[in-house]
Amino acid sequence: MVKTFGRGRRAHESYRRAAADFGTSYADWVRPMLTLEAVSTMAVGAPVVGLVGTAGAVWFAAEGWVTPVEALTGILVGLVVPTTITALGFGAANRRTAAAAALRIHDLLATPELPVSAAPRTPQGNRVEFDDVRFGYSDDAEVLRGVSLTCEPGTVTALVGPSGAGKSTLATLLPRFHDVTGGAVRIGGVDVREIDPAALHRHVGFVLQEVQLVHGTVADNVRLGRPSASGAEIEAACRAAHVHDRITALPQGYDTLDARLSGGEAQRVSIARALLADTPVLVLDEATAFADPESEAAIQDALSTLATGRTVLVVAHRLTTVTAADRIVVLDGGRVAESGAHPSLLAAGGRYARLWESQ
Ligand code: ADP
Repeated sequence: MVKTFGRGRRAHESYRRAAADFGTSYADWVRPMLTLEAVSTMAVGAPVVGLVGTAGAVWFAAEGWVTPVEALTGILVGLVVPTTITALGFGAANRRTAAAAALRIHDLLATPELPVSAAPRTPQGNRVEFDDVRFGYSDDAEVLRGVSLTCEPGTVTALVGPSGAGKSTLATLLPRFHDVTGGAVRIGGVDVREIDPAALHRHVGFVLQEVQLVHGTVADNVRLGRPSASGAEIEAACRAAHVHDRITALPQGYDTLDARLSGGEAQRVSIARALLADTPVLVLDEATAFADPESEAAIQDALSTLATGRTVLVVAHRLTTVTAADRIVVLDGGRVAESGAHPSLLAAGGRYARLWESQ
């Protein structure tokens, strides 16, 4: 970046200065502690204790206050004491680390679970409705401010808009990663909060931007979509997701443990997972930003295979990938700014047309 903008010299100089300043302030900060630590470590060191002990013992024995045997015993005991103190000190440090770890585990376990309805209801169909949805990650900053939209079964709805508009946030409300703070999200006419979580996950599949592969083989990772799936079914899903060839090129193929896959490949594994899960509603957070062009084309192909015949909500970060969507919804500042099909939105000359121009 520095080179591109032709500011090489000046940028390097300010980097050098920042690094030197940091070095100085860090040294000023640790010096008093280091001095204290060095002095105290030296004071309890065996040579110092041995020397002081011997001098004392000689003096006490010369004065006749102790016998030489008692003096020698004193020196030996004196040598053991510092080691014990040091060991206790290390023990205390370990105890503090353990206590801090226990606290973090406690905090994690104390995270409230999403409440589960006592009388779950079954969705009737696969229409998805966002009804005046409000949501904020914290009380003081609302990310979604009354979003209403409907996704009809068998159609693809694309969410577009500037970065930070709330697109991904809206999408994650559907698999109930968070609960709305106002309004409702419904599938087949039933509020997602009233659907049994297991049933919800059989209904809503997702391919998210940050793909998480779990510890295990590639096959295990795909099988998460449907634990009962056979090897042939897993392979079929991977072929459809355009990742089969990459997997068979791995040292142990589908049985490779913790395979090193690129972002685009991991994304296709998660598409295979979603294909296998075969849910009627799908949330796709398009993450082609880090993929190479070849991988991106493969991802797009895999996504279109996945979208057929389902209720699909796509978060699109680039408009070119969603021009064919049945409906494009432009989010801005947590609200729906515009919606419609690509040609009519372009013709309207509004926010979408400006986004299209800029991209
Ligand atoms: P988009 O997908 O349109 O780029 P996001 O839904 O990711 O937008 O983000 C909307 C807003 O919510 C942003 O201001 C972002 O900083 C904030 N945000 C996103 N995820 C979190 C989170 N996990 N915790 C707190 N704030 C978040």
